[in-house]
Amino acid sequence: MPSSYNLDSLDAKRTAAANCAEDDLRQVASAVSHDLQEPLRSVVSFCGLLQKKCEDQLDEKGQEYLQHAAKGAGRLEAMLNDLLSYTRLATDERPYESTQSHEAFEAAVERLQTDIVENGVVVNCGDLPAVYANRTELVIVFENLIGNAIKYQSHRSPEIHVSAELQGDQWQFCVADNGIGIESAYCERIFGLFKRLHPSHIFAGTGVGLAKCKRIVERQGGRIWVDSEHGVGSQFYFTLPKPTEDA
Ligand code: ADP
Repeated sequence: MPSSYNLDSLDAKRTAAANCAEDDLRQVASAVSHDLQEPLRSVVSFCGLLQKKCEDQLDEKGQEYLQHAAKGAGRLEAMLNDLLSYTRLATDERPYESTQSHEAFEAAVERLQTDIVENGVVVNCGDLPAVYANRTELVIVFENLIGNAIKYQSHRSPEIHVSAELQGDQWQFCVADNGIGIESAYCERIFGLFKRLHPSHIFAGTGVGLAKCKRIVERQGGRIWVDSEHGVGSQFYFTLPKPTEDA
């Protein structure tokens, strides 16, 4: 039938476009890891050498300029490293299988233990199900969302709750916090690469974490979004499929 033929050709076009985007990302990954990191490393190390060996030969203004240069280079290095970990999501082949989300949650909490203890954060969860996902990627998603919930706190008793509920054939997860919240105008923008709402001297970060979560979730046909009230807290939601019979 002409209509199904059109749908097939639309699907084929979409697949071709997706493959093209993956290829582009692989090229960016290679450029970042080979071509961009090396010159940056020499800027960082020569700034360090200048500070160590020649700082006393500079006047106050000169020292201030050098500090700004070193700080900027350090920041660029952090952004590039995070960009590399983002592009690696396209280059590393990771199998999808039936994965216990509770174990992925525990692994993420384990990695964040120091921040949790230092900030006196209570992290708890409801029943978390098995999903069709890659375990490493699911840990990355939990680690970023819970890590942000710890970082963007304003409260004296910070609390984070992770839960999941079944919606059709998808599990819908929620990571809820009682932190600073997000104005509704920015709720979509924050999932973009390098998009941040605060300067790094107030909240450290590079703006790559949520873009990584979005990429991981959407690659599996899921969705990620946030509901938030400024000054009250945020609920980050994402969906993942139920495991198939044979997964
Ligand atoms: P980063 O934390 O490195 O800035 P992310 O991509 O993880 O990068 O987050 C993007 C932005 O979204 C953050 O800079 C912050 O402004 C906002 N944000 C993320 N999570 C939260 C949260 N739980 N509460 C309030 N704001 C948040």
